[in-house]
Amino acid sequence: MMTRRQALKNAALIVTASLCSVPPLKAQPSAAPAGPFKLPPLPYPFDALEPHIDAKTMEIHHDKHHAAYVTNLNKAIADVPGAGTKSIEELLKGLNSLPDKTRIAVRNQGGGHYNHSLFWQMMKKGGGGEPKGELAQAIDKSFSSFSGFKDKFTEAATKVFGSGWAWLVIDNKELRIQSTPNQDSPVSDGFKPLLGLDVWEHAYYLKYQNRRPEYIAAWFNVVNWDFVAESYQQQMKA
Ligand code: MN
Repeated sequence: MMTRRQALKNAALIVTASLCSVPPLKAQPSAAPAGPFKLPPLPYPFDALEPHIDAKTMEIHHDKHHAAYVTNLNKAIADVPGAGTKSIEELLKGLNSLPDKTRIAVRNQGGGHYNHSLFWQMMKKGGGGEPKGELAQAIDKSFSSFSGFKDKFTEAATKVFGSGWAWLVIDNKELRIQSTPNQDSPVSDGFKPLLGLDVWEHAYYLKYQNRRPEYIAAWFNVVNWDFVAESYQQQMKA
C-alpha cells in the first residue's frame, strides 16, 4: 500500500512533469521588438488607389512587406549603442559609421522602411495630373516639359534590372532622375528624394504580373503632386 507521504510525492512528480511539458514562455517570434521604429499607418484605405493599384497589393505591401522592414530594422539596431535614438534618415546618411554586421541590414531594412514611408505619401486617391508652382517650373527647366520628365522617369523605372526604385531627387539644388537597386535610398548618397516609384514585383505583380510598363503608366494616375511640390519647396530651403 502507498503511504500518504508517497502519494503526495507521486502527485508532486506528476505536477512537475506536466509543468515541464509546457514550453517555456518566450516572446512570440512574429512580434516586433518594442521599437524604436514603427510602421506608419497607410494615409488612406487599401482600396483608395483602385483601379490603378489594387487593394490586395496595397494591403500586403504595407502590412507585410513594409512591416517586415520595420521589424528587421529594429532587430538589426537592437545591439548598436546610440542607433535607437537616431532618425531613419540619420542612420541612412551615416551607413559608414555603423559596425560591419549592422550596415547591410540598415541599408536594406532601414532603406525599405524609409523608402516606403515616403512612397505611401507620394500617392493619393484622385492624384495624377501635373505639378504646379515652383516644382513645375523646375521640371520644365530640367526636362524641357512635364512630358519630357515623364518619359525619362518612365525609362528609368522600366530599366531597373530586378528589384529597385526610380527617383526624382534634388542633387545640389538641381532636379535629377536616378534609379537605385534593392532598397538603397537616395539619402544615403546625399540626395533629397522628391518622388519615388517602387518597381519591386511585390508592388505590382498581383494585378500586372510581368507587365511593369503598364504599372508605371497607371501609377502616374495616383501621384500626389501636392505632396511632392510641398516637399520640393521645403527641401530647397533646407
Ligand atoms: Mn515595396
